[in-house]
Amino acid sequence: MSAPLHTLGVADLARGLAAKAFSSVELTQALQARMAQHAGLGAFLATNQEGALAEASAADAAIAAGSAGPLTGIPLAHKDIFVTDFARSGLATTAGSQMLKGYASPFDATVVARLVAAGTVTLGKLNCDEFAMGSANENSAYGPARNPWDPTRVPGGSSGGSATAVAARLVPAATGTDTGGSIRQPASFTGITGIKPTYGVCSRYGMVAFASSLDQAGPMARSAEDCALLLSAMSGFDERDATSAERPPQDFHAQMLRPREGASASKPLQGLRIGLPKEFFPAALTADVNGAVRSALAELEKLGATLVDVSLPRTELSIPVYYLIAPAEASSNLSRFDGVKFGHRAEQHGDLLDMYKKTRAEGFGPEVKRRIMIGAYVLSHGYYDAYYLQAQKLRRMIADDFQACFQRCDVIAGPVAPTVAWALGQKRNPLQDYLADIFTLPGSLAGLPGMSVPAGFANSEEGGGLPVGLQLIGNYFQEGQLLHTAHALQQATDWHLKEPTL
Ligand code: GLN
Repeated sequence: MSAPLHTLGVADLARGLAAKAFSSVELTQALQARMAQHAGLGAFLATNQEGALAEASAADAAIAAGSAGPLTGIPLAHKDIFVTDFARSGLATTAGSQMLKGYASPFDATVVARLVAAGTVTLGKLNCDEFAMGSANENSAYGPARNPWDPTRVPGGSSGGSATAVAARLVPAATGTDTGGSIRQPASFTGITGIKPTYGVCSRYGMVAFASSLDQAGPMARSAEDCALLLSAMSGFDERDATSAERPPQDFHAQMLRPREGASASKPLQGLRIGLPKEFFPAALTADVNGAVRSALAELEKLGATLVDVSLPRTELSIPVYYLIAPAEASSNLSRFDGVKFGHRAEQHGDLLDMYKKTRAEGFGPEVKRRIMIGAYVLSHGYYDAYYLQAQKLRRMIADDFQACFQRCDVIAGPVAPTVAWALGQKRNPLQDYLADIFTLPGSLAGLPGMSVPAGFANSEEGGGLPVGLQLIGNYFQEGQLLHTAHALQQATDWHLKEPTL
């Protein structure tokens, strides 16, 4: 195999490892060298060189012994929202916050444990917005991550480090989490592929909690095929997560490959009805995003799909609904960070109440404080009915709107975000960021699976040649159909193969 190892995705690496074209140790060393060379991108918050090499040589031994699985010896990295057993991995868990600086978890998140059990090699922990609150990775207490296509731009967020690392070819794949778009939007901004599965498909056990009724884990990689391989290993019922879906283990790779009834080699998507919600194509959508999304839709049509007009009339309302429900849940989840059991504790303090106050004032950044205040307010006596209860009712109506669409189509498509990646360091009003979540929030509130698939590049001057993602949303537990659709597109196009020059 002559291609440099960092250019290969998960499926190709697995083939090379199985054929003994290279070892996992060689692969791990090559990627570690590249990570060091491009440390300026800010993708990683923690690495463990020796630990990763030990895992790689164990993987090589398993391959030699013939006991390897499909992911044995594949290096990857985890968003720093997943806790990693410090004694096992030597990797701290910070959630991008000062509050958890240097925190040594006594256990692994289920998603991490499953990927470790599958034989993957952990290269480190990836930068993210503090407690996954943000859209640009600029809310990280440890500095921003940079977009490899243009380091003066953001990579998106909150899984910004994951997106940067995959797009820059520092890792073939990474884990991410998505509460309101945090896998899909950074995937779109960096030209990679990411899937947020149906709520309940991946265990939330050991994911630092933001908004528990929305949080979901998923893979971020170069292709739908690589995402399918990762998701099969990450997902599955977990009795330690009360909202985990009780379903048998899924082989998403086999589902991705399964031909549609009536399909042919040239028309693999024959009979697939793709719904275009008119609210996802407003006049204000940038020409860059609209152009790329339309060209991807034209490709899907060539592959046999038909486009149908549908409507999600409460799309705009998903912004206030999400930005009430998510902060409400966050204010409750983050109450555990009080300086008593773990995490930061203020050094100078008076009585217990003063210790709580100073600890939280020092440990949380401004966006996290804003959300705790909003959340505490909307849950408070007298305001609960006016805000939180109303938002819950609307959430149900938004989910019902999707079911009406799925009467008329199999998959919903549209943009992931209204623009391409914006410039780093701009003083953006928080509201600007909230509004930019408009196309990812509806699916999140409904708990539906969603993907971002590379759909080309912006060609306006302002767009700066940056990547654009196509969003695909499926009905509950239709990950296989989303991956099949994205895979068909990627077999026919090469947007996902384009690499940034660093
Ligand atoms: N941008 C959204 C927010 O700030 C989504 C974040 C996420 O999905 N974790 O809440």
